[in-house]
Amino acid sequence: MYRTRIDEVRERIRDACRRAGRNEHEITLIVVSKFHPSTVVRDLYACGIRDFGENRHQEAADKAAELEDLELRWHFVGQLQTKKARQAARYAHAIHSIDRGNLVDALAKSDQTLDAFVQVNLTSDPARGGAQPAEVESLAEKVMGAENLRLRGVMAVAPLDEDPAAAFARLRSYSERIQKLAPDATDISAGMTHDFEEAIQFGATHLRIGTAITGNRREGN
Ligand SMILES: *Cc1c(COP(=O)(O)O)cnc(C)c1O
Repeated sequence: MYRTRIDEVRERIRDACRRAGRNEHEITLIVVSKFHPSTVVRDLYACGIRDFGENRHQEAADKAAELEDLELRWHFVGQLQTKKARQAARYAHAIHSIDRGNLVDALAKSDQTLDAFVQVNLTSDPARGGAQPAEVESLAEKVMGAENLRLRGVMAVAPLDEDPAAAFARLRSYSERIQKLAPDATDISAGMTHDFEEAIQFGATHLRIGTAITGNRREGN
């Protein structure tokens, strides 16, 4: 079942890359495994998936412990509490949801090296996840100042009430801004089950795909 879904998603990624004139090898497919048990991750691993996304610290920590025998990379994609940051750094390969300076300070206290993405809020609601666009550069500079964090680029979730292509076009402009400060921070974490083709069109390098591969989650998050 997973193999078929993975093949279908990979085929769509290939087609979207072809249309965008991009090389599919630029794309990292992260399967978001939140709300699914570690057995599902194990099955996906057997199908060749190596990058997994989680959005809650406790759930991610539990799965990481259960799956310690597998060589996989955990990508933290949800709101991260400052007091959980050092714990998350123990299992995470990358934090995609850097949205404020005190989270950077907390992560910098860890002795683990981490890939870091600055999350940008593309909605007009300041309560949604991510830094405000005006804060993106100063937050990127703060990440660059932390020795154990490697600034990879920007991350966002497309707003529900907007054409995702328009939102991803804005995200690309924020990516270009931070590349003026950090030329290597070229990555863009964007694209979920319903909008990954548009994200590829606008330069996404890290797709975070859940339900298209795992099927429906128990909770609608
Ligand atoms: C759940 C989640 C995803 C995956 O969503 P799907 O629509 O199931 O593909 C991607 N990114 C984040 C931040 C998520 O929380």
